Amino acid sequence: MESILFLAHTEADGTLAKSALETLGAARTLAAALPGATLIAGLAGAQLQPAAGQIAGCGATRFLGATGPDFGFPRYGSDVAAAEAIARAAAATLVVAPATSRWNRALAGAAQRLAGRIDAHVTGVAVANGQPSASRWYYRQRMEGTLTRTARPWILLLEPGCAPPWAGAPGQPDIEVVPVALTAAHRRTTVTGVKAPPADEQTIRPDARLLFVAGAGWTKKQPDGQAHAIEAERLILEFLRRTQASLGSTKSLVDLSGEGQAVLSCLSHLNQVGQTGSTPRHPKGLATCCHGEEPHTVGWRFIPERRAINLNPSCGWAQGKADVLYVADAFAVLRRVNELLAARG
Ligand SMILES: Cc1cc2nc3c(=O)[nH]c(=O)nc-3n(C[C@H](O)[C@H](O)[C@H](O)COP(=O)(O)OP(=O)(O)OC[C@H]3O[C@@H](n4cnc5c(N)ncnc54)[C@H](O)[C@@H]3O)c2cc1C
Repeated sequence: MESILFLAHTEADGTLAKSALETLGAARTLAAALPGATLIAGLAGAQLQPAAGQIAGCGATRFLGATGPDFGFPRYGSDVAAAEAIARAAAATLVVAPATSRWNRALAGAAQRLAGRIDAHVTGVAVANGQPSASRWYYRQRMEGTLTRTARPWILLLEPGCAPPWAGAPGQPDIEVVPVALTAAHRRTTVTGVKAPPADEQTIRPDARLLFVAGAGWTKKQPDGQAHAIEAERLILEFLRRTQASLGSTKSLVDLSGEGQAVLSCLSHLNQVGQTGSTPRHPKGLATCCHGEEPHTVGWRFIPERRAINLNPSCGWAQGKADVLYVADAFAVLRRVNELLAARG
């Protein structure tokens, strides 16, 4: 019989993030489908009551926690020790955890210490023939594989956006504090602060409803014989500010900076979508000034509704892969769209 541990870390305010609640939903699916399985909640954080209260009604039989100032920030040494201690206290055979940067870094080490196995980038869990299975994509999201393992404990890191977040009645469950013996070596790293761009400069927004992909056409010579990169940047940033869309880019556009050409300063390689970039999950996508296969196929692999703006009516990828192709000047379209958005207030 499986002992399923939902393992999450809290956010700065002590609550659980959406990705953790999605993972809890997946852990509950496994617990419901595996005969005799138990569900245990394991939490790590500076304070645990807000998070435990949030998921009080999730059906967990126990709430285990590693708590204290040492667990209030991401640090490999203390995180791996906390995960190991909680998994041992739960006698976990399956550990389902959100694929946050914090857990992605620490849980492989926990698997090693527990003599278990780990699979990252999991996009779904299921039960077939009484056995739990995990699915994930291979070869840059072109092939989906389903795998099972006999080794236990088996740790699964679930990607965000792959399951509906669990929601239920709050409460005040009792938390069993799990002792974690930390030595000076665990505490060798000290987090002194976080440097991040202001929220309105942050252009990658995984939860946005729209992914706006900018292609190299934004920096190319336009019908007047001139490039208009500064205006392009202004139009794109205004559009992003008004819609709170997430900004993706083609490889050609981010690579231009290395060639000393006019570029959009708001872009970095982190914005790149495609085979050698990311494959984000947003309900809608709008590709602008893109010709390539990448933005229209691989980068959009998980975007259900896709539109493109291109001057070239023969752009084969836009015709073949976009649901709607606007044959138009993206500068003119965005200027007008921004006006309409401004008028809406
Ligand atoms: C191994 C490998 C990996 C790769 N990985 C990636 C990847 O991860 N991501 C990626 O993006 N690419 C990747 N590429 C490159 C990819 O195949 C394409 O070359 C690239 O995506 C093309 O970029 P683009 O569409 O921005 O630029 P272009 O091909 O230069 O297209 C510009 C487009 O803008 C249009 N345009 C110009 N002005 C306007 C205007 N005013 N209004 C509307 N449209 C306008 C033009 O008609 C044209 O269609 C990879 C290539 C290789 C070989």
